[in-house]
Amino acid sequence: MRVVLLGPPGAGKGTQAQIIAGELGVPAISTGDIFRANVTGKTELGTQAKVYMDAGDLVPDEITVAMVSDRLAEPDAKAGFLLDGFPRTIAQAEQLRDSLTELDQHLDCVLELVVDEDELVRRLSGRVVVVDGKPVQREDDKPETVRHRLEVYREQTAPLSGWYDQAGLLATIDAIGEIDEVTARALVALGHQRDDDETAEQPTDR
Ligand code: AMP
Repeated sequence: MRVVLLGPPGAGKGTQAQIIAGELGVPAISTGDIFRANVTGKTELGTQAKVYMDAGDLVPDEITVAMVSDRLAEPDAKAGFLLDGFPRTIAQAEQLRDSLTELDQHLDCVLELVVDEDELVRRLSGRVVVVDGKPVQREDDKPETVRHRLEVYREQTAPLSGWYDQAGLLATIDAIGEIDEVTARALVALGHQRDDDETAEQPTDR
């Protein structure tokens, strides 16, 4: 299955991407994670991306698209993938569509996580990540940068919702609630039957 997870910063895309990708048996590909790994590793790509990330701006399309195309060409993405944080502009979505067409592939679903803006600001301002065993605030989770990232989302990424709806690919879910509840809604929207074996009651051997 080939899925795009769409939603504003703070909607829980990263958390849900990991769980849903596990359920679907496909790799979760997060452009934000790939950029952050490059920043930590002080690569050329990381140095280029850091300036934009720290300001809460989008990394230019040409850098991002090339990076995603390389990642999608890896063997583990052949049978499917879940993209988290890409595409973020109409131009990226068009490039993704064209790259997939070249590979004789297409998206199955674009799942949008919907959360109102007050809740997003509350979540992002209180978010803590662990780096080298220590809790820290992400540089781009500082209040003024959060506001800017939400603006960037509204202007550049939110139009993708209508774009994918027109293509008949969009499914939206309410992403407020417990992690498990949101996952359950996502899997229903994707038409995926959850393998409940782990939670099913095991017969006792008496
Ligand atoms: P995220 O972890 O998805 O919130 O991404 C963190 C930051 O990485 C974003 O604020 C952007 O600066 C950059 N980034 C991630 N994905 C993209 C993308 N598809 N296009 C441009 N910049 C991106």
